[in-house]
This record gives sequence, structure tokens and C-alpha cells, in this order.
Amino acid sequence: MGKILVTGGAGYIGAHTVKRLVQSGHEVVVLDNLSTGHRDFARFADFVLGDVRDPVILDSLFASRAIDAVIHFAAASQVGESVRDPLFYYQNNVSGALALLGAMRKHMVNTLVFSSSCAVYGPPFDGLLTEDHPIAPLSPYAATKNMIERILEDMARASGLKYVALRYFNAAGADTDAEVGERHLPETHLIPLVLQTALGQRERLEIFGDDYPTPDGTAIRDYVHVLDLADAHISALNYLQKGGAPRAFNLGNGQGLSVLQIINAAREVTGQPIPVHMAPRRAGDSTRLVGDATLARQTLGWAPNHADIHDILATAWAWHQKEAACLPQSPRPAAL
Ligand code: UDP
Repeated sequence: MGKILVTGGAGYIGAHTVKRLVQSGHEVVVLDNLSTGHRDFARFADFVLGDVRDPVILDSLFASRAIDAVIHFAAASQVGESVRDPLFYYQNNVSGALALLGAMRKHMVNTLVFSSSCAVYGPPFDGLLTEDHPIAPLSPYAATKNMIERILEDMARASGLKYVALRYFNAAGADTDAEVGERHLPETHLIPLVLQTALGQRERLEIFGDDYPTPDGTAIRDYVHVLDLADAHISALNYLQKGGAPRAFNLGNGQGLSVLQIINAAREVTGQPIPVHMAPRRAGDSTRLVGDATLARQTLGWAPNHADIHDILATAWAWHQKEAACLPQSPRPAAL
């Protein structure tokens, strides 16, 4: 396969995927507006600063580089923010995908891997969620992912677009070389917040709800290593290249872990006490989201290499320690 355009390649999952693609011999060009991504995360490939909604940039990008396939990550991805500002989410995510698809059609690029989410599923949330679980997005963020999947389905039917939508469960962990990792500003995700607490950067971790109908009362998620997610994109490209049918795949480990289980595992990995404080439930959170990725395993040949939560946490811990070492130190008091 020739050159691959990765939109949002300076973000968390995008950067890990770009690094993996380059390591496996692909030529990559990253398009990112750096609104939430980081320039240092995009150092593995050719980098173009720009917005995926900008048709002029897209046109010149496709015209100047022989792009064979696209992986589309560029999107806003915070559920809470999407509830507060739905218009921004629909404009940014849906218009971005439409502009990209328009440019792909104009330049006859027909292969796309799309970054989707398990957030597209609706209740009931008990058991393992398969791809045919009812779709009922609970937030504007989730609705944008579902709308884009729907657009892809229609385009596949109408014009033969070859696409795979990857529905991630909870991405976690970091590159084993700690060259890239999770850096959100502001940080809202559980594992980075737990590890920042272990580092003493936060006084305590707030547990959002201990009254869920789960064994320990805290919410359950399926944490999947970001490198395993990255590998799935390469498997998806190979699948499409071999003529695989367009469709969506879940990416999860099928193992549900509660907030308390994550904190206890992080205490073991870091050796730090990690103080916690019980807080009310966070608006929009589900009790349980655990995925069945049998289809991805069987059809894409996807085999996660880092399913153990201690492994996930250890890579994240190495990354966060490295990030902390790079932070400007507060000046020491002058000696008397
Ligand atoms: N969570 C928590 N405290 C935090 C951040 C998250 O208790 O400071 C919980 C959150 O309510 C959810 C789980 O941890 O049940 C995972 O949250 P995260 O934001 O990492 O991912 P989400 O599942 O919301 O995409």
C-alpha cells in the first residue's frame, strides 16, 4: 500500500497508530490542527498543520501526495463537552468527515478506516456488547460517531466506498518506548488521573459514584491498550486491501474492570497509596460498557498483545513519569 493520510495523527490514539504504521513500513502523512493534538506526537511522519474541515488544504494535500488510504481520527471526543456545546461537535466532527469524504471522492481515494466508539450503543449495558447491540447514542459526541458511520454505510452502498469503522472501548496505556502517551488538556480520563495522583500532581482521585449496581458500586469499563488499538487499524487496512466487506468492529478485551479495581491495580503497579474521595456520579456515565471483539479477532485477525491491566497501567505509568520529569520544576527556596 502507498501513502496513508492520518487525520488527527497528533492525538492520543492517532499518534500511536502513526508510529506503528511507520514501524511497519508505511509512508504516512499526518493532518492535524493541533487543537487537542501535540506537535511532538506527530514527529514520526510528514506533518501538515491544518483543519480537516478546510477543503483547500484537503485538495492540495490529496493533489500533492499520492494517497492510497485514509485513517480518520480528527474529531472532538469529550462526552461532557459535547453535551454543553452540541453545535461545535456536530460542526467539527460531522462537517470534518463530510469534507474529508468529499475530497476523497474528488481525488478517487476509496479506502477509509474510521475512528468510532462504543458510545454509539444504547441500553441495556449488561453482558458483552456485540456489533448488533441496539444503537442509541446517549450524547452529541456519540451521535456524531453514529451519524458518520451511517454516512459511510450509505456511501459504501452508493459508490463502493471501502471502509471499516472501529468502535473503541476505553483506550488506555502508552507506547512501550514511552515516546508517546496520553496527554489531554484538561485531563478527564480515569487512568491518567489515577497516575497523576500517584505522582503527587493531584491531592486525590474523585470516584464518580459508588452506588452503581455493580459488585463494588463503581462503574465498569473495558480498558484496551492503545497499541492494540493502533494494530487494529493496520489489520483493518489489510482487510480492506484484500476486499473485505465494509462494516464496523468492536475493539475491546471483553474484561470489565471497576473504577476501584483500576485504582487497586494502579496502587500495585506504582507502589503509591493513591488517596481517593467519593463523589457523585458524573452526568452521562453508564454503569457498564464491556465489548465483545470476537468479530475483529475472527475477521481482522486482531489479537491484543497487552490485555492485562497491569501491563496497560505499567506502560501508562512509565509515560506519566517521563512527562512529569519534563515539567518545569518549581524554584527551590534560596539558601539562607
Ligand atoms: N472516573 C472517575 N473519576 C475520574 C474520572 C473517571 O471515577 O476522575 C470514572 C468515570 O466515571 C467512568 C470511568 O472512570 O466510570 C472511566 O471514565 P473515563 O473518563 O476514563 O472514560 P469513559 O468511560 O467516560 O469514556
